[in-house]
Amino acid sequence: MKFNKKLQNIKNYEAGKPIELVVREFGIEPKDIVKLASNENPYGCSVKVQKGVCDIASKMAMYPDDSMMKLKEGLAKRFSVAQDELIIGSGSDQVIEFIMHAKADENSKILINSVTFAMYEIYAKHVGAEIIRTQSQKHDLNEFYTLYKEHNPDIIFLCTPNNPTGDAINTQEMMSFLQKIDNDTLVVVDGAYMEYAEFKDNAKKVTPKELIAKFDNVIYLGTFSKAYGLGGMRVGYGIATKSIIQELYKLRPPFNITTLSLEAASIALEDIDFVNESIKLNFEEMKRYEEFAKAKKIDIIESYTNFVTLCFDETKKSSDIAASLLQKGMIVRDLSGYGMNAIRVTVGTHDQNDRFFALIEELL
Ligand SMILES: *Cc1c(COP(=O)(O)O)cnc(C)c1O
Repeated sequence: MKFNKKLQNIKNYEAGKPIELVVREFGIEPKDIVKLASNENPYGCSVKVQKGVCDIASKMAMYPDDSMMKLKEGLAKRFSVAQDELIIGSGSDQVIEFIMHAKADENSKILINSVTFAMYEIYAKHVGAEIIRTQSQKHDLNEFYTLYKEHNPDIIFLCTPNNPTGDAINTQEMMSFLQKIDNDTLVVVDGAYMEYAEFKDNAKKVTPKELIAKFDNVIYLGTFSKAYGLGGMRVGYGIATKSIIQELYKLRPPFNITTLSLEAASIALEDIDFVNESIKLNFEEMKRYEEFAKAKKIDIIESYTNFVTLCFDETKKSSDIAASLLQKGMIVRDLSGYGMNAIRVTVGTHDQNDRFFALIEELL
């Protein structure tokens, strides 16, 4: 059977290996498995969210509120934007998909960082767009600008902080860069880890309201999957001027967010203490990774997120390290597929991190 040719060269997104699979493949007890592979919040989610979701479980027979009133009110208040400057997706992943279909086709070019979130490329391939990548591993906005001038892309993705490297763009530099980009190019600022970045360094903080007040060709993306601890609920959002949001709405399937997810995200947004506490613990634990890496002479990229990227020298292969860790029940992300001899490790709880340090020590 023939299928859409554009799909021929797409490699499936490789999600962090689920615990269930490791149980089956290696016969390890679930309690002995630690997953530090998907940048989930190791402290779970707010208990208020858990209670709120239980309280409305009986509403499951009815379709969700497709106006998403409660969550939109919450987001509009949080970010001081209007409700028609917001779109909510089944994860910010879905908003990326809307953006791609709204703006790009097989004649389009998409400019992304050399090493960055894999879904930009996958969605670009859905529409047959050409991918242009920088050489630099860190977001180098001068290089972005040179490539922008050369290729005139339809969309530019800036991932700050960047996944899977953890570094973040300086906001002032980003604002000057945006100033130089023509209105026909849509710039996506993916802030999936922004809650972590702004906690660590105010110079990396991006304010969506300011962004869209200054630029009508920019969309900011956020998610409940990371700091809010709701990866399993699939809720993300985009913030942009009304005219961009209107275009994206044309692609939104009805009821794209479930009743339980809408409720969970609405409550999560209110429980600021939970989020702040997890972020504080995250950076306390990250210090231990930095000290560990220094002691073991492993290169670590300075991170503004809830994960660290450990880069190995030629004597060790990151794929071997990841595979050995997996056999011991420790799931991390090997980055050799990104052209890096490195692993990405989500900063876990104190005990999970102890376990990681002990296993690496054993391996080296
Ligand atoms: C996790 C992540 C997302 C989106 O996650 P969703 O669960 O789909 O909201 C988007 N961008 C980056 C860079 C991420 O790491």
